[in-house]
Amino acid sequence: MKIAKTIAEVRSVIAELRKERSSSASGDKVGFVPTMGYLHEGHASLLRRSRQESGISVLSIFVNPIQFGPNEDLDRYPRSEEADLKLAEREGVDVVFLPSVEEMYPEERKTTVTVTGISERLCGASRPGHFDGVATVVSKLFNIVKPDQAFFGAKDAQQVAVLQKMVNDLNMDIEIIPCPIIREEDGLALSSRNVYLSEEQRREALVLSRSLRAAALRIESDAAVTPGQVIAEVTTAIQQSPLAEIDYVDLLTFPNLEPLDEQGGFSKLRVSEGSVILALAVKFGSTRLIDNTIMKLKEVPLHV
Ligand code: AMP
Repeated sequence: MKIAKTIAEVRSVIAELRKERSSSASGDKVGFVPTMGYLHEGHASLLRRSRQESGISVLSIFVNPIQFGPNEDLDRYPRSEEADLKLAEREGVDVVFLPSVEEMYPEERKTTVTVTGISERLCGASRPGHFDGVATVVSKLFNIVKPDQAFFGAKDAQQVAVLQKMVNDLNMDIEIIPCPIIREEDGLALSSRNVYLSEEQRREALVLSRSLRAAALRIESDAAVTPGQVIAEVTTAIQQSPLAEIDYVDLLTFPNLEPLDEQGGFSKLRVSEGSVILALAVKFGSTRLIDNTIMKLKEVPLHV
């Protein structure tokens, strides 16, 4: 496994590997998994998928300052380079790109990539500028690594929607591959930020996956339920937890992230078999957790 800290280095290592593997059975396609490190099994699942689908597997670890707001957790974002490199090695990563902030942003930046609309709802509403930071750094990383395929977790479903739109709009020749959310056995979605949770917060945080699951079942089985009712039920369930402070609970079309009521509620989408996302962000103390479920709607027979 090669470790590259500069842009020049990572470019030359990848170019060499492409040359070496151009005639190998596994091929010379570059699969890319961008992360902020403190790797867990969610990240590992992306690396495994990349390993399966591409001949060359590239991981980047970069805590990107421009996607954090002024009062967010940039300074205390967890880091552990040694453990990350072990996990990368275990998952058969070929190249790890570990740039410094100075390497990525050496001078005052005059260019920002903005995906309008999709970026403005859900996390975009509570974290202004966040998705500009994400789209900008991912564009830079794409230009540096030049991947054929890039793997992202559905845990950050809005990020997937924003980046897919960016790639389409800007004709980037890169396939965005969304991968399923990896959860603990008890349902909590894996996140680098889970280490901040106290035992009690960790226990109460289970309300997130539990209420999403209950809501998904309701949507799948109850033809009469409305988006407003689902949002209200999830909100009420989370409010039962004294340590939870809701940032948002919302139901939107996926991947365009449009409000359902403007789309005729569930009924039209059931007929067209459209997809919806039920997404939430909830704070436990100063730790903000996100989770979601994406569903393809189907018609439900009415009870007689
Ligand atoms: P991060 O390091 O948090 O920026 O995440 C890097 C990538 O890992 C993103 O594509 C995330 O969506 C993905 N990821 C994070 N947590 C999970 C999870 N629990 N399951 C699947 N993918 C995840």
